Amino acid sequence: MTRFAGLLRLQEIDSALDTRRASRDEARSRIGESEEVVAARAAAEERARALRSSEGAQKDVELQADEIKGKIAQAEEKLYSGRIKNPKELADLQADVDQLKRQLSSTEDRDLEALGAAEDAAAEAKAAAAGADALERAWREEQKELASRAGRLDAEIAELEEQRNSQAQDVDADVLRVYDHIRRAHQGRGVAKLDRNLCLGCRISLPTNIVNRARAGSTLVQCPNCERILFA
Ligand SMILES: [Zn+2]
Repeated sequence: MTRFAGLLRLQEIDSALDTRRASRDEARSRIGESEEVVAARAAAEERARALRSSEGAQKDVELQADEIKGKIAQAEEKLYSGRIKNPKELADLQADVDQLKRQLSSTEDRDLEALGAAEDAAAEAKAAAAGADALERAWREEQKELASRAGRLDAEIAELEEQRNSQAQDVDADVLRVYDHIRRAHQGRGVAKLDRNLCLGCRISLPTNIVNRARAGSTLVQCPNCERILFA
């Protein structure tokens, strides 16, 4: 007698295997670098560079102001030292001091602006770095979870493969070949149950003689439409 009753259980195991293999492959495919994290890191580095350049620009303006202050101090020292007596020379010197003070005032205005710009750049750099950190943490967390899910599924798959091998021994080799062939051709399902005279694999009503043979269960009966092996 042909042994094929074990096919139903084999189908259950194979379906469980298919689901787990698909989940495992899906998890594995998502393991790796994240474009989103890489882009956020690059944006944060760009902000950090902008901050350094803002700070550099502000320092430059500050140095210019210091230099002008130095010149003013020198000129005023000369002006009030009493060493210069010539009124024309004193007037020229006073004019120089006034000119330097106007220059200082405008440089100090620019310094304030540069300070404001550097503060804005610092806030933007901080926010970009925090955003990139948060994304990277979430990504690491997800990677860990994906790796552990894939590992769990590997173990379940190994166990199901053992069950499959032992279950397959209860089925004749030629039946197994037919079943495997149909499974490959029909989305992983090689067997179909009957609901009265309906093949639940393809939802076609079957002739009574086929239904009766399938119900008898002593021979292997295939659905004439979808080829699946019928079980009552
Ligand atoms: Zn069918």
